[in-house]
Amino acid sequence: ECHNQLVRLRGNIRVLARVRPITDDDGTGAQNVVTFDPDDDGILHVTHKGKSLSFEMDKIFTPSANQEEVFTEVSPLITSCLDGYSVCILAYGQTGSGKTYSMEGPPANPGINQRALRLLLSEVSNRSDSWEHHLSVSMVEIYNESLRDLLGVDCNTSLDIKISPGTAGELYVPGLTQRNVRSMQDINKILEFGHKQRATEHTNLNAHSSRSHALLILTAQGRETSTGICTTGKLYLVDLAGSERVSRSGAAGERLREAQCINRSLSALGDVFSALRSNQPHIPYRNSKLTYLLQEPLSRDGKALLLLQVSPAERNVSESLCSLRFGDRVR
Ligand code: ADP
Ligand code: MG
Repeated sequence: ECHNQLVRLRGNIRVLARVRPITDDDGTGAQNVVTFDPDDDGILHVTHKGKSLSFEMDKIFTPSANQEEVFTEVSPLITSCLDGYSVCILAYGQTGSGKTYSMEGPPANPGINQRALRLLLSEVSNRSDSWEHHLSVSMVEIYNESLRDLLGVDCNTSLDIKISPGTAGELYVPGLTQRNVRSMQDINKILEFGHKQRATEHTNLNAHSSRSHALLILTAQGRETSTGICTTGKLYLVDLAGSERVSRSGAAGERLREAQCINRSLSALGDVFSALRSNQPHIPYRNSKLTYLLQEPLSRDGKALLLLQVSPAERNVSESLCSLRFGDRVR
């Protein structure tokens, strides 16, 4: 079932894996089933049913990798939004695999989201070339195929994705709040506000976040002062819903609807990756809100980075294999 082909990734989609450490939540005596190649940071091995399965990614972060190392690896992609690219980073994996740790991070050790905003702010204030940049940020949650504005005063209205009039099919979300980013204080306020909005609606944020996608969307508008040439780049940082297979037979009512929506959007994401990989002329973006919203960074003109989050614990091995196999669809 697991194919073991070793192929290096090409093109503008990169696949990274990050294996989190064994934690207390894994229970006492939790067995570690993931090992690494000492000579190649692109290979990992998973022991399953007495066999060792190997996977190759662009790069693999072992449990000892810290937030800074991960960020250093993804920062060239992040800064390319200042050159007018649409780029995205997607954290994929089962609930508890470390998606939120990588993207949001604990307050004392922030993840990609905060570091990205900090880096872009310092880049645009220190660049000595003839470009001026303006940064703004939106935060969105996709839950049961509806879009919520996390920075809005009223975050309970579901927003639509529309084609911007007078453009060549450019997408926009009418009514979505955009906050300017001019200082570190702005960054902290925005992230705090968005986090609070998400949390206040739900008594159990962890349970809710495993069933919804959280997106931080940064828009970088550039203008070359001498020529007046303008560019718009976008950065999408996505903490995806948990990829674990929810048994449909056991779920009912609201839980069943959630499971169907998650399956639909993550399989739509896989289908988009497959279509891109096999160079199909038609890319099926319209099958979910998630892929529709990510159409630009997931196009051949965009750049995407899939961060596969993996638990090394034996009891999670089947979901870990599923995540690693999802990465194979991209290659
Ligand atoms: P997810 O968002 O995928 O459900 P979390 O990010 O909430 O998973 O991580 C689950 C638990 O594992 C949390 O307690 C988190 O602090 C811890 N964790 C995840 N990744 C790491 C890491 N790289 N280093 C230390 N702890 C981690
Ligand atoms: Mg999470």
